[in-house]
Amino acid sequence: MKIAHVYIEHSIKQLDCTFTYRYQEEHVQKGVRVRVPFGNQVVTGFVDHIEEIDDTSLQEVSYDIKDIYEVLDEEPLLNEELFSLGHWMSETCIAPTIRCFQTMLPSKLKPRSKRKAILQEAWVKFVKYEGYTTKRQQEVLEEMAQRKSMLRKEFLQEYKSVGKKLIACGCLEVVMKEKEAHSSFSIPSTKECFTLSDEQQQAIQQIQEGDKHKVSLLHGVTGSGKTEVFLQLAKIAIQQKKQVLLLVPEISLTPQIVKRVKERFGSLVAIYHSGLNDQEKYEQYQLVKHHKVSIVVGTRSAIFMPFHKLGFIILDEEHDHSYKQDVSPRYHCRDIAIFRGEYHQCKVVLASATPSLETYARAYKGVYQLVCMKQRINGHFPNVHLVEMKKAMKKGEHYLLSDRLLSAIYDRLQRREQMILLLNRRGYTSILRCVECGYVTMCPQCDIAMSYHKTDNLLKCHTCGEVKQLPAHCPSCTKKKWAYLGLGTQKLEELIKEKFPTARVLRMDADTTTRKDAHEQIFKRFQQQEADLLLGTQMIAKGLDFEKVTLVGIINGDALLNRSDYRCAEVTYDLLAQACGRSGRGKYKGEVIIQAYDISHYAITCAAQHEYLSFFQQEMQYRHLASYPPYTYLVSMVLSHKEESIVVEEAFQIKEKLGIHKEYRILGPSSLLRIKNEYRYRILLKGKQHSLLKDVVKEVYKWHYETKQKSRLEVDLQPIILD
Ligand code: ADP
Ligand code: ZN
Repeated sequence: MKIAHVYIEHSIKQLDCTFTYRYQEEHVQKGVRVRVPFGNQVVTGFVDHIEEIDDTSLQEVSYDIKDIYEVLDEEPLLNEELFSLGHWMSETCIAPTIRCFQTMLPSKLKPRSKRKAILQEAWVKFVKYEGYTTKRQQEVLEEMAQRKSMLRKEFLQEYKSVGKKLIACGCLEVVMKEKEAHSSFSIPSTKECFTLSDEQQQAIQQIQEGDKHKVSLLHGVTGSGKTEVFLQLAKIAIQQKKQVLLLVPEISLTPQIVKRVKERFGSLVAIYHSGLNDQEKYEQYQLVKHHKVSIVVGTRSAIFMPFHKLGFIILDEEHDHSYKQDVSPRYHCRDIAIFRGEYHQCKVVLASATPSLETYARAYKGVYQLVCMKQRINGHFPNVHLVEMKKAMKKGEHYLLSDRLLSAIYDRLQRREQMILLLNRRGYTSILRCVECGYVTMCPQCDIAMSYHKTDNLLKCHTCGEVKQLPAHCPSCTKKKWAYLGLGTQKLEELIKEKFPTARVLRMDADTTTRKDAHEQIFKRFQQQEADLLLGTQMIAKGLDFEKVTLVGIINGDALLNRSDYRCAEVTYDLLAQACGRSGRGKYKGEVIIQAYDISHYAITCAAQHEYLSFFQQEMQYRHLASYPPYTYLVSMVLSHKEESIVVEEAFQIKEKLGIHKEYRILGPSSLLRIKNEYRYRILLKGKQHSLLKDVVKEVYKWHYETKQKSRLEVDLQPIILD
């Protein structure tokens, strides 16, 4: 008898095991989706493996085996490599296998109960010559016999009534085919690529000739020409008939790199990111699966594309936190890249001007190959000035714009050069406070102050989306006067307009980028010099390359240092160094002004001097003293529930159960912000052996499930930001 072991989709997510079903049809195979009975429901499942057993051994099985109702796919959805990757992910992230498979597939192919239709298109196909009546019909038939088939829409546009008649008489027929992505068929540009700089040449050579099994870290300062290195590597891979994956943190914020890849390789490129709709994603996925493209540029989820033979996997801005998925399975793209690199025996290249501490530490020790580019292509770094805001304000200067920054802006306006102003603020929103009693409107679901949006005069919670009318009177003291607090980008824009009425300003923040292509439009207008000044939040610090920008101003440069997170210095350094990297990239000399309250912190002084190594060494000392990664591993367990007492009780039970150990420390439980009406508590494990921590967490997970604890437990085996 034929038996299939099937993972099923079920609300009890901990249920990470296969169930057995019987089948007769031949086309049940590993990796296809099936419909199966489960309890009194019919659910979608995913065949993990099949086997043939003889009926006598079956009699020993006490339960009766049910039949598979329906097979949904003709061929496996996941190939061998992706299949084993799914299992590996499930193991390393402690996540249900079926959820890992779901994560890996574009939404239209996900194994889940509600099936989504895949779009079809009508084509007209040549059938036979018999049956036409006119000369014109004969001509059309001859053309179609040559073309073989044509999209119906285009066919009817071209041949109109003659065409219709030929279909009616059966010389041509209409067939439905799965809609395919139409690559733009743009011809790769013949634009001369540059003569490579010595450093670029060396980097390419080192990466190519280095130990195949070693990951390479390309540590290149901002403006050192890393993109060109990627393009050259891609060319090499394509010549060897291999594929290339280029990962970027966020497509909408890095339009220029996509443009450059497209210009160079035209229709060989597929683009994959969260901004695409389900159908578009599916089409791009099929392009890769059917060998129609050689290069994929994409964000995190592109790491799961069905490649056949990879030549390079490149992670640009490898330090970026968007590479880490923050819902289960909580994987890091870097780890998946390394897994796939080993499978395909291809080089993994991690690139950044500000590598994450973990990555640089590995390169420093020789675990990774370190490849450096220390010079800017244009030969000069911007001058960086630090403005100490405490002093400036004592002298009566404005708390948002110091005199130094004001005069620099004035100067650029005179010289018709462009500038970028960056408001460093995590929530980047404004808070309204009652002038009389200090009342602030909090979100009713989350412990977070609601932000005031001036354009629509509403209060919004950026965590859960709650929207409220602005109360006319303060609910606490009934006064009617609200003070507009915080360093909102809107406020900064108003201030600039007040000080420089003729300046043309573009603003980029959560409010101005709600439309799908808003980022692109804003960048385009800035590129075309329709504005003198681009102001915004962290969004505008990444990867942009505008040659006319000669001033970057950073307001509140030390805001991130005040957080309790152990990574706050690293995050601050990254932001400042990347923002500095936007200034003076062309032929004009650039300047950067950083305003901060504490200008003595090494994250700030090192960024101002472009001294990554010095920052790295000081930060490593701190991490060593405080036993933080990369010296130790952290593992996080977060419990949540609507009732605080339940979370607290269960969290302390876990702590007690864990007891005291030599090999690792237990921190917490500590309370986190309440989100969507749920109280959350975290327990952290900190130790030197990752596998041991993992085993401990697995135990806890099992215990939590088996003893039917009421709270929800979420584990993260590699938490990046702890807040
Ligand atoms: P990075 O990613 O390292 O910050 P980019 O790859 O964006 O730097 O390159 C910076 C600028 O230098 C870009 O405008 C790019 O077109 C230009 N560039 C890159 N390589 C060369 C080269 N070999 N010769 C001239 N210009 C170059
Ligand atoms: Zn909320």
